[in-house]
Amino acid sequence: MDPVRVRFAPSPTGALHIGGLRTALYNYLLARKTGGQFILRIEDTDQKRYVEGAEAYIQEALQWCGLETDESPAQGGPHDPYRQSERREKYQAEVHRLLQTDKAYYAFDTPEELESARDKAGGTFKYDAATRGRMRNSLSLPATEVDKLLAENIPRVVRLLVEPGQSVHIKDVVRGDVTFSTDELDDKVLMKADGLPTYHLANVVDDHDMRITHVIRGEEWLSSTAHHVLLYHAFDWVEDMPVFAHLPLILKPTGKGKLSKRDGQKLGIPVFPLSWEAENLEGFRERGFHPQAVLNFLAFLGWNPGTEQEIFSLEGLVEAFSLDNVGKSGARFDFDKAQWFNQQYISEQPAEELIPHIHKALSPLADGESADRLQKMAELYKSRVRTYPEFRNQLLYLYQAPDGYDEKVIRKKWKPNVATVFSELVDAYRNQSDWTPDGIKATTTAFMERHELGFGAVLPHLRNGIAGTGNGPGAFDMLHLLGQEESVARLEKAVEEWNA
Ligand code: GLU
Repeated sequence: MDPVRVRFAPSPTGALHIGGLRTALYNYLLARKTGGQFILRIEDTDQKRYVEGAEAYIQEALQWCGLETDESPAQGGPHDPYRQSERREKYQAEVHRLLQTDKAYYAFDTPEELESARDKAGGTFKYDAATRGRMRNSLSLPATEVDKLLAENIPRVVRLLVEPGQSVHIKDVVRGDVTFSTDELDDKVLMKADGLPTYHLANVVDDHDMRITHVIRGEEWLSSTAHHVLLYHAFDWVEDMPVFAHLPLILKPTGKGKLSKRDGQKLGIPVFPLSWEAENLEGFRERGFHPQAVLNFLAFLGWNPGTEQEIFSLEGLVEAFSLDNVGKSGARFDFDKAQWFNQQYISEQPAEELIPHIHKALSPLADGESADRLQKMAELYKSRVRTYPEFRNQLLYLYQAPDGYDEKVIRKKWKPNVATVFSELVDAYRNQSDWTPDGIKATTTAFMERHELGFGAVLPHLRNGIAGTGNGPGAFDMLHLLGQEESVARLEKAVEEWNA
């Protein structure tokens, strides 16, 4: 495949939803796969919806995930500027061309007039071939009147002239051929009264100007694409029309309906890459996810490699990715699956990388901890957590005696044959001279042999006595990590309580 030029074109209207990050990822993958360029363009022409800090958020989210751009507002590029609010002259020049070639026209209708037209039509008003003759525009008014209104600088918009009775064909890599009738389409506003372009105009002008070859975006933009195709025709740019790929919806965890930003708050799961404090929204990063796990999870929301393989590095995704394997049907946002991916990544992370996360999870308890002990904690527990904050629950016993025991372990396994002799093991621990996992193991196996007990009859009590749980990594490692004195003290107390 030839090198593509693709863009991620978010509007800075708030935090970047996880669906936006998936769009960025797919664009990135295709760019890297073909040796092309991945461009970030900020679509900020809707001043009413502009949110301070949103652009910085988008940049930070891409950076956190390692989705490096080739051209962007921050780094510039051959098609500067990459922020639409700084490209006004271009849109004005292009819209002027459309007016001159009669592909667009001025409309002077006031908000009140539009409102009343809508009221008369019972809410189904469409500004189009059937209605534009009744409205106040440069097609319906005499030329002299139009000139006068323009000379007086009366507020006006520019609308696309949509000819009725035609078919618009969209070739979409994901959805196949999609056809719209122009009878369904309205004369979209291209330029607003404030002199700023609408999304449709700016998007098409920029995609053309920036030599975009593939437009990969969410399915919600499919219906706008009909107007975009008409614009390519109106501008006489049909030859340069990009390939379209509309990505499937991301569905709620229930599988019913589109995942919304409020779903995260309702369900207590993150649906944003990073937290966004202004709206109190939680991010995957703050929830303790590895960025690569997030990308791996997102890659599978709409795409699959056609094999059983699930774990992919970013390079691996680049290698495997193809638009041909992007599906049409909505992809369910399954947070358990996201956690599963994260667990795979954490368990493969070098212990040194995990140390800061352990510090943070236990803060401030592990502040004075030696590097050696932290390293051991990471090694022992990294395959037992799904997210970084879970280190806290797993490791808290090293700093606090358990405030209760696993009752099931006691009920099922604290049998008389163990209960009567267990203190003997605790005594042996007290007198042990080499408190290493091997030393502890030797003492324990000698005790087991003496009393003909198996591992299953003894080890759960060791874990339960020091940590209050029957589960965990190797019991000898746990005892070693906790230290001799504290382990013996806790086991003594436990035996007393269990035998009471
Ligand atoms: N600015 C649009 C958005 O916020 C871009 C859609 C597109 O990629 O064309 O998603």
